[in-house]
Amino acid sequence: MTYSIKKVAVIGSGVMGSGIAAHLANAGLPVIMFDRVPDSLTDKEKKQGLSLEDRSVRNRIVAEGKKKLLKQKPSPITSKKSLELIQVANLEDDLALLSEADWIVEVIVENLEAKKELFKKVDAHRSKGTIITSNTSGISVEAMISEASEDMQEHFLGTHFFNPPRYLKLLEVIPTEKTKAEVLSFMKLFGENVLGKGVVEAKDTPNFIANRIGTYGLLVTVQEMKKQGLSVGEVDSITGPLIGRPKSATFRTLDVVGIDTFYYVANNVYHHVSDPKEKEIFTVPDFLKEMIEKGWIGAKSGKGFYEKKKDRTIVEINPNTLEYQERKKLKTNAVEAAKQEKGLSRKMKALINQKGDKASDFIWSIIKPVLVYSADLVGEIADDVVSIDDAMKWGFGWELGPFEIWDAIGVSAAVERIQDEGTPVPSWVLDMLEEGNETFYKQEKGEIYFFHNDTYKQKIVNKKEISLAAVKEQKGVIKKNTGASLIDMGDDVALLEFHSKSNAIGLDIIQMVNESIEEVNKNYKGLVIGNQGKNFCVGANLAMMLMEAQDDNIFELDLVIRQFQNMTMNIKYADKPVVVAPFNMTLGGGAEVSLPAAAIQASPETYMGLVEFGVGLIPGGGGTKELYLKELRNLPEGVDLDLTKVANDVFEKVATAKVSTSAREAMENGYLNKNDRISRNPDHILYDAKKRVLSLANEGYEKPAREKIPVVGEAGYAAMVMGAKSLHYGGYASEHDLKIAERLAYVLSGGRIKEGTEIDEQVMLDLEREAFLNLIAEPLTQQRMQHMLVKGKPLRN
Ligand code: NAD
Repeated sequence: MTYSIKKVAVIGSGVMGSGIAAHLANAGLPVIMFDRVPDSLTDKEKKQGLSLEDRSVRNRIVAEGKKKLLKQKPSPITSKKSLELIQVANLEDDLALLSEADWIVEVIVENLEAKKELFKKVDAHRSKGTIITSNTSGISVEAMISEASEDMQEHFLGTHFFNPPRYLKLLEVIPTEKTKAEVLSFMKLFGENVLGKGVVEAKDTPNFIANRIGTYGLLVTVQEMKKQGLSVGEVDSITGPLIGRPKSATFRTLDVVGIDTFYYVANNVYHHVSDPKEKEIFTVPDFLKEMIEKGWIGAKSGKGFYEKKKDRTIVEINPNTLEYQERKKLKTNAVEAAKQEKGLSRKMKALINQKGDKASDFIWSIIKPVLVYSADLVGEIADDVVSIDDAMKWGFGWELGPFEIWDAIGVSAAVERIQDEGTPVPSWVLDMLEEGNETFYKQEKGEIYFFHNDTYKQKIVNKKEISLAAVKEQKGVIKKNTGASLIDMGDDVALLEFHSKSNAIGLDIIQMVNESIEEVNKNYKGLVIGNQGKNFCVGANLAMMLMEAQDDNIFELDLVIRQFQNMTMNIKYADKPVVVAPFNMTLGGGAEVSLPAAAIQASPETYMGLVEFGVGLIPGGGGTKELYLKELRNLPEGVDLDLTKVANDVFEKVATAKVSTSAREAMENGYLNKNDRISRNPDHILYDAKKRVLSLANEGYEKPAREKIPVVGEAGYAAMVMGAKSLHYGGYASEHDLKIAERLAYVLSGGRIKEGTEIDEQVMLDLEREAFLNLIAEPLTQQRMQHMLVKGKPLRN
């Protein structure tokens, strides 16, 4: 049987149910979201004279779940349009609708009896062959449906999303003995290719993979903190990025998750394991229980391990007295040494190898148990080390999984130390070393192998997940400088990778783009511009420009802007198609590189915007021109060209430095248009971009003809300036904002000419450059740039 999912029923509209429904709708799937019928009326409903029989009351719980999606931060929806795809229903009147769904996902309260009861109803109403899954955090999947029909059991599995489902990459899938192999493999591919997740297969054991190891690690950290007399803040200061974990480190993570939820998840393991040592670790310390009793459960209740006081200072709890105290940080020689090192592997080694240092001893005391515990659980909770590492990276945001950490610090040295300290190491690890295998992973010719059942096995990766590191290892680089490299992606497609600091564009990148286009015009079918850094590109190199401006080097700056403009024109008028693959932050210069491309292939999580206004500038590399042109070209057929509307629209976007919160929003904002595409999975953009290059090339790509730009001229300029002035008089914009807005209006209007005049692109580029150079010489603009560089946020002056 072949499976296909066109419509989904989500049962439960709480935190996770509504989040999953939103994520499905973001992917374009129609969803029917269900919840219970309430058993009593609210005061408001009573006042309105409603009864428990009224539809609005019966659907109240689910309707509220849907409504909350609009308010949550970060937003679970990629566009307000997602909400249109979510239909609400209740579990008494609408069960017949279940037969319409190709996939039913249960997301109700974490209670075995409630889930079993629900599945009886589902069994009676689902169509045969419908896939059905549970989002349980840790209840046995098998136990939930042991009494269900044969067909339901064959189509049943666990699908454990992480909170929030839009943003966290991990999806654990948990088959039972009865789950059909084709159902499991279909859902794994669906999870990756349609839902954009990183899928890991887990076994049906308490809390599956990530929550089993994650809660263990957190509890060990809490216990060691108490034992070694460290404070909450001290622990957080060394258990975050320093050891490759998220900034929220240990306790701020717990505050975000909710200490009550954490307690529940930890307790689930406590009740289901028999090893007394394991039980001891999973025994939640009393002070945590006390905090829960007091309602100090973290962000949702206003305080937990931390509390933000009225004067905005943050204080930390003292676990011994449960009083809040000034936040502390741990600074030791080992911490300093680790900070000086580059790369996590060297940082970790520097940190753990200074026995006797407070931080060093603490980190070792919390890492060691996690390494041993993970090794102990291979085979029990997951088939292999890769599943465990992926789960920890994708579910908990660790930079390296436990086995990768082990490799990073040296397996033999770590094993020796662990044994010296009297802790047994799982025999399969000792056997591995005995046979001369020194690492859990090894790389050969760009392929990754992992140690599994006495030998190394090749890691099979979805062919859509291109790793640039692997491509470089296999094929080398064609050209390279400090800011960027040109790589051969195969099939006659080249890729230009930015790798400067924060991928900011400086002269090195500009040069490499130009050289790459020359090379591609001669020898390739097309070019992808993309990378695998944290963000696609945060803009032009602001520090370099500020330095030139402060030295009054306007001549040099003029040259830089000309070169930047030439680069974006080269991208636009390359003989071969250039496809840009933006993701995450794609700001200022990053957007200016994307806009002129033959096509954009964006990650669903693309935060794109021309943000120069925030630093007192306007886009000078062709961004203003291209956004205007893109919007002109995107007008639906039959709609009269209203230049003023388009100019005003672009003016507003640039003047408010608006950044899209998703690729879909970028499309709604005109940064992307009908020619551009959004990938489903952020990890597939380079593959999709390469495919797009090939399809454009095979269609017989012709570079665009040089454009004439119709502009609004003097009249349009006056209207835009008037709008800006009224904001200024109303107190919404500063004097300097007004000055920048006037410059922007002048560029967009094409100068003092008649409305409707068609100007050459170069004219608008010259206007952009002139405005840019004029503004960058302003002290107030330089203050804004300085502020951004130092504080990372805009200054309104
Ligand atoms: P929640 O309390 O926010 O929502 C639960 C929903 O279930 C509510 O809308 C409630 O009306 C409904 N419900 C309660 N009892 C019911 C019953 N007897 N029949 C039908 N519906 C009922 O909970 P949540 O956090 O969304 O968790 C839902 C599921 O997802 C649980 O199994 C939980 O373990 C799992 N989970 C939660 C998280 C998380 O971080 N919150 C993460 C992963 C998995």
